[in-house]
Amino acid sequence: MTTAAPTQRQTLSIGAIVHNQFDRAADLIGLEHSMRRILAMPFRSVTVELPVHMDDGRIEVYRAYRVQHNGARGPCKGGVRYHPEADEEEVLGLATTMTWKTALMQIPFGGAKGGVQVDPRILSARELERLTRVFTSRIAIVLGPYRDIPAPDMGTNAQVMAWMLDEYSRRKGYTPAIVTGKPISLGGSLGREEATGRGVLYAMQAYGEDHGIAIKDSRAVIQGFGNVGAHLARFLHEQGARVVAVTDADGGLHNDKGLDVPALFAHAYVDRKPVSEFSGGDAFTNEQLWTVPCDWLIPAAVGGVINRETRNAQTIECKVVVEAANSPVTSIADRILEERGIPVLPDFLVNAGGVVVSYFEWVQNLQQHPWSLEQVNAELHKRITTAYRSVRDLVRRNDVPWRTAAYMIALARVAEAERLRGHNDSRK
Ligand code: NAD
Repeated sequence: MTTAAPTQRQTLSIGAIVHNQFDRAADLIGLEHSMRRILAMPFRSVTVELPVHMDDGRIEVYRAYRVQHNGARGPCKGGVRYHPEADEEEVLGLATTMTWKTALMQIPFGGAKGGVQVDPRILSARELERLTRVFTSRIAIVLGPYRDIPAPDMGTNAQVMAWMLDEYSRRKGYTPAIVTGKPISLGGSLGREEATGRGVLYAMQAYGEDHGIAIKDSRAVIQGFGNVGAHLARFLHEQGARVVAVTDADGGLHNDKGLDVPALFAHAYVDRKPVSEFSGGDAFTNEQLWTVPCDWLIPAAVGGVINRETRNAQTIECKVVVEAANSPVTSIADRILEERGIPVLPDFLVNAGGVVVSYFEWVQNLQQHPWSLEQVNAELHKRITTAYRSVRDLVRRNDVPWRTAAYMIALARVAEAERLRGHNDSRK
């Protein structure tokens, strides 16, 4: 179960960050006004109330959302987040990013996201199951393997997907392709759990080859040691990189010679202990993290952490920022980094590994034919590097930042699908 807890300020900024970045790219590709309005608004936004019988006999009511941003290129795809501060604006911002991510990766999906306003850590397993079943039944009408396919996100996991699969299948018959990120024994894909971290590595390798930064012996700094950060740290270490600093929500560690990543992985990821309690480095804070000089600076925790207000955008010293988290760099920080000549590899290019392997899982479910881990990783590598090269070529040709180039490609693809599908007011 993921436990990251973005603050309200950070979650609100995700919607604003996504919106500002959209405008800049839309201007550059000359997107017509009506198409901007279509792509800026969600296709469908559902709000539901979830009455849940608690173990002590009370009934609690939770508010929940499912936002389908755009489905022109295929069924909507996106995670479900259980978090006390999940709100419609945050969920819409994340759903929008999913539309651009699926388009950039050229997988036949649109973008969606779900959120339940709840702190899952204070619910029992039975309460969590009942909550998940009520949520699934209330949004089932807008779900479907060819309409909208949820996945895990913060506060949810493979078990929650198993309950969603079961609740949906009770109504419609056995439908494994209704969710991804399931347990392997229920049709989940090999390689799905670590796919996002692996995809970040593939994007870094491609960038490193082009820009003379070999992964081997390079210095990496990572904020966040959850699903994305911990697996990425492990892969970087295996490739010979030095992971010199890592933090989680409680602070972290710094060791200029490189941290003992396999031992840290066992301590913090497997045993769920704070990074700061690991020996083998000097304890330090999340604020100090941004002062460590490195080749790769990798925010892999929450949104809005590189910004003008804390002055880290003005002072960080790295060759490239790799957005493993969603929206970790604010729009103003993006401009500051651009002026300072520090490239930012955008979230929907580098952290798309999870949704790409979710797509493979969906394909395997529909075909009832599981893939080997080698096939999953080889296909993931192909998708990430192909997307990387298309963005790189546009960066070189048009002299624009990486994020702008990625948006230009994604917006153009979604707009083309919208135009080709025409004006069908009853599209489901
Ligand atoms: P997670 O909950 O597994 O781990 C989050 C990590 O960040 C934890 O180590 C936590 O302690 C740390 N953290 C939380 N708040 C922090 C703070 N304020 N300062 C420093 N560290 C903090 O989450 P995850 O699945 O690894 O996701 C991390 C980011 O990557 C999120 O932005 C998420 O939206 C994004 N992302 C995840 C996936 C995926 O497949 N898991 C895919 C795409 C994007």
